[in-house]
Amino acid sequence: MGCDRWLRLVAAILTFVIGAIPIWAADNVIALKAARMFDGKSKSLVPNGVIIVQGDKIVDVGSNLSVPGDAQVIDLGDATLAPGFMDAHTHLTLDYSGDYNVRRLNELDLNVAEQAIIATAHARATVEAGFITVRDLGSRFVGSREFVDVALRNSINKGVVVGPRMLVATKGIGATGGHFDPTSGFRDFLFGREPDYTDGIVDSPDDARKAVRFEVKNGADVIKAAVSGGVLSLGDEVDTPQLTPAEMAALVDESHRLRKKVAVHCHGDEAAREAIEAGVDSIEHGSFIKPETLTRMKNKGVFLTPTLMATEWIMSKLDNYPPALQAKAKAAAAARSDMFRNAIKLGVKISFGTDAAVFPHGQNAREFKVMVDLGMPAIEALRSATANDAELFGIAQKTGTLEKGKFADIIAIPGDPTTDITATERVFFVMKEGKIVRNGPPTFHSSTKSTDPANVVAPVE
Ligand SMILES: [Zn+2]
Repeated sequence: MGCDRWLRLVAAILTFVIGAIPIWAADNVIALKAARMFDGKSKSLVPNGVIIVQGDKIVDVGSNLSVPGDAQVIDLGDATLAPGFMDAHTHLTLDYSGDYNVRRLNELDLNVAEQAIIATAHARATVEAGFITVRDLGSRFVGSREFVDVALRNSINKGVVVGPRMLVATKGIGATGGHFDPTSGFRDFLFGREPDYTDGIVDSPDDARKAVRFEVKNGADVIKAAVSGGVLSLGDEVDTPQLTPAEMAALVDESHRLRKKVAVHCHGDEAAREAIEAGVDSIEHGSFIKPETLTRMKNKGVFLTPTLMATEWIMSKLDNYPPALQAKAKAAAAARSDMFRNAIKLGVKISFGTDAAVFPHGQNAREFKVMVDLGMPAIEALRSATANDAELFGIAQKTGTLEKGKFADIIAIPGDPTTDITATERVFFVMKEGKIVRNGPPTFHSSTKSTDPANVVAPVE
């Protein structure tokens, strides 16, 4: 056989093989089985859950379904199949779980490229813990114009980095001297200029509109703003209002015109009332919100993202924070349990969100136990992290429940999470869009990484 005939034969084989791969992939059927299933909608678990997956979608789901003969069967045993968890409040590009002062120094030392590389480990830890979708609410590096969250999202979407589906907020928008001012607490003009809308800092309705446009131009999927003070910021009181009603109205109007939802960091009651009036989609934290204001939230369908884990973590490590922040943390912690109980009682929509970065990435599921300990039924807590978050994110048509035609975003939890909610912390099987991310032990142990002072970077929330 001549040389060119060989080449033609090789080319023909390659064409056949490469051409055949997508056909094979499309035909590859996987049947997942487990003793129980939580579908994201029902009020109880169903026994003998079966999910048939083809390509990236669920093609059938139910109790005791018959399995097609050609399916690859994965029997997960005494476990509960569930929709992939979601977290409505993460900061995958940051880590402020360690010593506050060490972190502030690191923030100035580490270059942004290194911080971006560290963030890829946070992304892996998060998806391996069963959190298949996150709304990432703020990524900022003082003195830098980089959009690390956008880069991380894009790299995950391209399959370069293993991580959750991300909806990113870029820089949190807030007032001069407020919770999101990256230069607050540092000597005046240390960074050479006052921050402006390109840093997310706004002081008028026009500024607010410009910041929203700038962020959407640079890849934001959702807009985040700080309308009240915060715990982990040095220059403000935790519950003071920080944007005017006119600034909030302009920010929400511009975001909604561009079809982006608005999440606001808010601890104080007055700021919450103004934000609800302005039409925000979710209130994050909400520590001091009074029952009358919660009722307004319920009536307007505004979600509450309680981020209980953030407070739990800070209160368990108070010595890691300066005295002024300790006082703010104590005040927020004292108020938020009653606020959360009131929100459940009044029927406010609860979105599951943790503020991961305040504590080490990958421990997001610890939020479930805090919710249940404060009186939320386990099944409702599970629903908050699946169907409720999908509704808030605007992706309920694609994922969030186990239904025919939706993405095969599926996890397995050992045992029964409605009798032991901490089982959610031991997810051992993760499938994202039909691809198995994990089946067995994790490849990444968050506890050995994130508390290392070398990894703690960047401020803000
Ligand atoms: Zn946050």
